[in-house]
Amino acid sequence: MTSSARPFLNRRLAEFGTTIFAEMSALATSTGSINLGQGFPDTDGPEEIREAAVRALRDGRGNQYPPGPGIPELRTAIAAHQERRYGLSYDPDTEVLVTAGATEAIAATLLALLEPGDEVIAFEPYYDSYAACIAMAGGTRVPVTLRPHEGSFRLDLDELRDAVTEKTRLLLINTPHNPTGTVLTREELTEIARLAVERDLLVVTDEVYEHLVFDAAEHLPAATFPGMRERTVTIGSAGKTFSFTGWKVGWVTAPPALVSAVRSAKQFLTYVSSGPFQYAVAEALALPDAYFDAFRADMLAKRDVLAAGLTEAGFEVFRPQGTYFITTDIRPLGESDGFAFCRALPERAGVVAIPNAVFYDHREAGAPFVRFAFCKQTEVLQEAAKRLKAAR
Ligand code: PMP
Ligand code: GLN
Repeated sequence: MTSSARPFLNRRLAEFGTTIFAEMSALATSTGSINLGQGFPDTDGPEEIREAAVRALRDGRGNQYPPGPGIPELRTAIAAHQERRYGLSYDPDTEVLVTAGATEAIAATLLALLEPGDEVIAFEPYYDSYAACIAMAGGTRVPVTLRPHEGSFRLDLDELRDAVTEKTRLLLINTPHNPTGTVLTREELTEIARLAVERDLLVVTDEVYEHLVFDAAEHLPAATFPGMRERTVTIGSAGKTFSFTGWKVGWVTAPPALVSAVRSAKQFLTYVSSGPFQYAVAEALALPDAYFDAFRADMLAKRDVLAAGLTEAGFEVFRPQGTYFITTDIRPLGESDGFAFCRALPERAGVVAIPNAVFYDHREAGAPFVRFAFCKQTEVLQEAAKRLKAAR
């Protein structure tokens, strides 16, 4: 949509149309297609956690404004989770902040930390709200492109180093990475940390897919690297890990001065949110390892079903090491424009996918890539694969 069609929208937001997720989910509904576009599971998370939310609601816990930083039980559970999984120790009172999903964490962090004109380096393709939030904060985004290399999308560390200027304020990273499924390696994160320390940059790391890591890959929180804890804002979310994306419970962990800055912005965005759900997520974070292992194994099986189906339907598949998305290349199908492909796909095959180009500044670099979500029931994935094959 052009700005002339939206005469009241300010210049900072003029380039951002309706999010691709809303557009494609609407298309899925209007055409009755299988929605492998927007990333949300088609089954809810653990019954006992759902019941915990019901209990909180019935018991009148969280029905009125919860405390600004989040309820103590949840802040304690977040700190315990970081300690148990990664050996990262955070004070629940001064180093943890509960947000309205990771989305608000991203917005509040960028609004709090950026001065107008500051440059933010983000890996392209990037999650769509990064660009909009950098713009709302008056910052300038500087994309560093992840490029296909031996079956996955990789970072060029020299390019990253060259992207840092006098104006660079922060690195906005995302591992496991949406939409490519790339998981940053120890070597890559070591170099990122070295660069951040050397150039005295803040690091904001979006780790909402921390529990969705497959094969030999390992999730390594950026804050665990040397010199990083004091400069890193880590963002997490219950949506992906517990399959309750509608609850919108996210969080930030960081040293007190950074949390305090983020809280300053957050208090004027939502102030607070998700009262009863905060109690339920506190219980969810304390689930035994068996929950997290089973969740990961289930998603891995789904990944393999969809990857096989997409391969059979003629796509080149980049097998993701993390997240619940598969990025494909449509050129083996004789196609090159992912936008046109995704707009036609519901009619042609009754399936909805996301054109990765929307996650790029260099749109041409993302043109032939299309993302499919596999957080769906196995039969749904099989049916989608069958339809895609038939439409070939
Ligand atoms: N970051 C990334 C990389 C995402 O894919 C998403 C979508 N879940 C978010 C942030 C937003 O998370 P939430 O739903 O918790 O706001
Ligand atoms: N994170 C989800 C995705 O990437 C969708 C989030 C949204 O709809 N904003 O598909």
